[in-house]
Amino acid sequence: MRLILLGPPGAGKGTQAQRIVEKHGIPQLSTGDMLRAAVNAGTDVGKRAKAVMDAGKLVSDEIVIAIVSERIDQPDCANGFILDGFPRTLVQADATEAMLRAKGLGLSVVIEFRVDDDELVRRVAGRYSCAQCGSVYHDTDKVPAAEGVCDKCGSTHFKRRPDDNPETMTARLQVYYKETSPLIGYYHAKGKLRSVDGIAEIDQVTAEVENILSKL
Ligand code: ADP
Ligand code: ADP
Ligand code: ZN
Repeated sequence: MRLILLGPPGAGKGTQAQRIVEKHGIPQLSTGDMLRAAVNAGTDVGKRAKAVMDAGKLVSDEIVIAIVSERIDQPDCANGFILDGFPRTLVQADATEAMLRAKGLGLSVVIEFRVDDDELVRRVAGRYSCAQCGSVYHDTDKVPAAEGVCDKCGSTHFKRRPDDNPETMTARLQVYYKETSPLIGYYHAKGKLRSVDGIAEIDQVTAEVENILSKL
């Protein structure tokens, strides 16, 4: 299975990707996570990406395409993968097509998460994640079973993203509607698009996603 999860910041892509990983055993390729790792490691790519990410703008197509292209050649991607947060521009979408074609692979489906702006702002404002394993939580909507202890790995260290603030979020939403939302039509025209109601509760969204995957 080769999937693309498409949707604005805070729509629930990462949350659902983690569940697909657990159920289907294919890796989650989050360009946001990969770029944040590069920033933390202080690599050349990280140095170039940091200011752009802090401003809520998009890192260059060239950089993210190179990162993904290298990543999908890794052995753990042989049976499929989940692209989370990529592609995000038409240039990236065309590059994805070319990349897969060159490897003789096809795209299974693109799942679009629909959530209105007010809810996205609310979600991102309350988002935090485990500093050790990356599991994603929310101040009110998704709290660990034991307060202050990660459900998955038991860590007691959590972090928040610098770009999850209201000002940057406004910029990120504008970028989404301008640069990324055209991909909805792009994949619809290819017959690859499926949309889910991302406002629903997390388990309900998972059920909708599984329903789509079961028909592949
Ligand atoms: P979210 O989960 O809120 O949608 P991400 O973690 O996917 O956010 O992305 C965080 C930031 O990383 C983006 O605002 C952007 O600066 C950069 N980024 C991530 N993926 C891409 C991409 N495919 N193209 C360009 N920039 C990207
Ligand atoms: P994305 O990867 O699309 O940016 P996340 O999966 O990180 O989105 O989710 C954003 C925030 O919203 C997180 O704090 C997460 O716990 C929470 N969240 C995710 N899905 C839902 C949902 N269906 N209902 C309520 N909160 C959600
Ligand atoms: Zn953890």
